[in-house]
Amino acid sequence: MKTSIRACLAWLALTPMFALPAAAQQAKGQSEPSANARKPGVVILATGGTIVSSTRSPTDMANYSGALAGVDSLLKAVPQIHDYANVRAEQIVNVGSNVITSENILNLAKRVNALLAEPEVAGVVVTHGTDTMEETAYFLSLATRSSKPVVITGSMRPATSLSADGPVNLLDAVMVAADPGSRDRGVMVVMNDRISAARYVTKMNTLNVDTMGALEQGYLGAIAGERVIYYFEPARAKGELYFDVSAVTKLPQVELVYRYQGQEMQLVRDAVAEGARGVVIGFTGNGNASADHEALIREFGSKGIPVVRSSRAVSGIVTPKLSGSMATGSLSAQKARILLMLALSQTSDLGQISEFFAQQ
Ligand code: ASP
Repeated sequence: MKTSIRACLAWLALTPMFALPAAAQQAKGQSEPSANARKPGVVILATGGTIVSSTRSPTDMANYSGALAGVDSLLKAVPQIHDYANVRAEQIVNVGSNVITSENILNLAKRVNALLAEPEVAGVVVTHGTDTMEETAYFLSLATRSSKPVVITGSMRPATSLSADGPVNLLDAVMVAADPGSRDRGVMVVMNDRISAARYVTKMNTLNVDTMGALEQGYLGAIAGERVIYYFEPARAKGELYFDVSAVTKLPQVELVYRYQGQEMQLVRDAVAEGARGVVIGFTGNGNASADHEALIREFGSKGIPVVRSSRAVSGIVTPKLSGSMATGSLSAQKARILLMLALSQTSDLGQISEFFAQQ
């Protein structure tokens, strides 16, 4: 078993399956120094995920081994990225995004901010598991501030599988980060040749490579051949809100509870008793609460604990309804949790927190 994992990881670094069949085996990393100087600087921050995972056979797309390859393997696997940018890379953490922590994303945001402040850095690429990519993307869109692009990518198929999507996703992400037209567009997710806004994107399919998108808002653009194409100027995609996390050492605990038929209130009470400083409830439909929930929202509100009304519906807007409750607008419940966490890291004032939600 161990031998086969080791064999797979070696393959990840060397396999032609993971390298592009491109005519472009040519220049990678061998450009003239003067040409390099003209290329934009892009830093890849690796956090793990399927893009660096391996399976026992190329036809097994679902049972990843526990061992994840490091950032060096990513760079070796797609040497063509050096044709588009002066690339360097760092490993932030190396885990699946189903187990990434609030501490990990806080550290990531701080590192992204530091890099964006470096004059020679034109953009940052984050490699990440797809399961919670949308949460990290939204977190970064609220906790970083720059005209420079931050692009998140990953893959649905392990690095060792047939038609692995990681290499082309990484290449696309570097192209987007290096493209001058990507400035002032906020944090973006690049997967399957498409560009999505962090604010709206969600994982829509458990296994398919065409998983990241936004039902209602669509895509910002696409990568077509060697061109990065934007369809629109961003309206709200850049995000008007900004939270300075430079002095934050720990993010507050915020829990997320889904409403279902016959649900009792106890789960929400337990979450607060266990230390949650706020709760998001993914209600049915347009954030439709029962009378019991309304009473609970008022009770916790009077104790200074925000209970935010979101929806478990796959798209649409939760409109303000109850006095004293905060509605999430078009934010998904999982993204509302990110916003509430950041809001509580700066203030306990429920009026101000309501304002943050009203701006979404
Ligand atoms: N388990 C993986 C993760 O989120 C799934 C993926 O990357 O596609 O890290």
